[in-house]
Amino acid sequence: MELYELGIKAAREGLAKGEFSSVELTQAIIDRFHAKNAEIGAYLTFDEGQALALARENPKAVPIAVKDLINVAGQPCTCASKILNGYVSPYDATVIRNMKSHDFIPAGRVNMDEFAMGSSTENSGLGVTRNPYDTDRVPGGSSGGSAAAVGGNLCIAALGTDTGGSIRQPASFCNCVGVKPSYGRVSRYGVTAFASSLDQVGPMAKSVEDAAILLSALAGHDEMDGTTPRVSVPDYAASLVGATMKGVRIGIAKEYFDVRGLDPEVRRITDEAVKKCEAAGAELVEVSLPHTEYAMAVYYIVAPAEASANLARFDGVRYGHRSAGAADVYSLYTKSRAEGFGPEVKRRIIMGTYVLSSGYYDAYYGRAQKVRTLIKRDFDEAFARCDALLTPCAPTPAFRLGELQDPLTMYLNDLFTIPSSLAGVCASSVPAGFSGDTKMPVGVQFVCGAFDEAKLLRVSKAFEEIRGNVV
Ligand code: GLN
Repeated sequence: MELYELGIKAAREGLAKGEFSSVELTQAIIDRFHAKNAEIGAYLTFDEGQALALARENPKAVPIAVKDLINVAGQPCTCASKILNGYVSPYDATVIRNMKSHDFIPAGRVNMDEFAMGSSTENSGLGVTRNPYDTDRVPGGSSGGSAAAVGGNLCIAALGTDTGGSIRQPASFCNCVGVKPSYGRVSRYGVTAFASSLDQVGPMAKSVEDAAILLSALAGHDEMDGTTPRVSVPDYAASLVGATMKGVRIGIAKEYFDVRGLDPEVRRITDEAVKKCEAAGAELVEVSLPHTEYAMAVYYIVAPAEASANLARFDGVRYGHRSAGAADVYSLYTKSRAEGFGPEVKRRIIMGTYVLSSGYYDAYYGRAQKVRTLIKRDFDEAFARCDALLTPCAPTPAFRLGELQDPLTMYLNDLFTIPSSLAGVCASSVPAGFSGDTKMPVGVQFVCGAFDEAKLLRVSKAFEEIRGNVV
């Protein structure tokens, strides 16, 4: 096995036994980056000097790829947007500080949809990322660079962010494990905001155990992020010992199965996953989440509304791109924004500004918040009857680059991931098989209640053990 193929657990074991050094491990990732990145386009930038210096400082350190919206001191942080051209982070995000104190180091910045808006990474303003399983296909998004780097063995593991599915859907497309933690489980201090009532940082990894190890490092209360409660962080990896499907109540919600646009191969793989859980001793429980059908509409009011407010700070004055041709302050704002933002970001800002505008606020944003409460209650009721939901993760396997031209069709990719984001609960994507037609990987989604990550990871691990060979 090559060093770049290792996951976190194996890398730590090798380091502990002295089989290789952290510098050698980091160099192996850098060499792999040079060999493969031109083809896959997972990374936007890789500061080799900084990564190697950090590896020299901490001989136990394992390198982790970082999505380009998380601040690392001294590094660019562009959010894959031209508007942040030239911006250099003055400080480390809390997740980066937490990683460093748990023997992880940031190594390389990976591509994404601009400001995390999208499901294919095609909205990146800075470059194309390809699916390592078929380079004519997308890696998913918005954490497409993270998923391609993990799936293509261009990193040991990666950080992604998920607002409506951006960790889980690309994990499904690139055959990796992705975990969207509960809202508030992980600090967002130093993470560029998209939709503040939804955004979460999470691990993307080669196994459930690796995701658990990395999540324990990331999670916890942070004085710099008032949305992180003082809930203690379990040793998630330790809690995986003895993980089993026996006696686990797996909730099956019909709203996630009888869906127009669900690819037959995804349906088959999800149905088989359900059967495997049952055969391994899980109890299947039928549940209903009746407000699921409103989730897309709610998300496309709440997320753009919050994005329009968050992105107001990019005005040509403080960060990144400043238009050269501005005659006065107003045209400095408008020209810098017109030149810097890509089309999808502009679309979201326009939608968000509209739904928040006076006279429309109650009809759109206010109403969406009420429906969001109903969606959250659906989950509360479901988790009174089951331990975890098992659902499809994305409606299709990875599609071709350029295949989805219409923004609405792109939005439908997050049909299965958006409701749990709105409810603030935790969810994972775990590899489950390969589509017979396209030969592309397909993951299934598990969903558990808020701050129930230990259970989510145990169920995910139990599934990983019974799913059969998917490599
Ligand atoms: N694809 C969804 C969107 O475009 C979700 C993105 C995300 O989770 N960051 O908004």
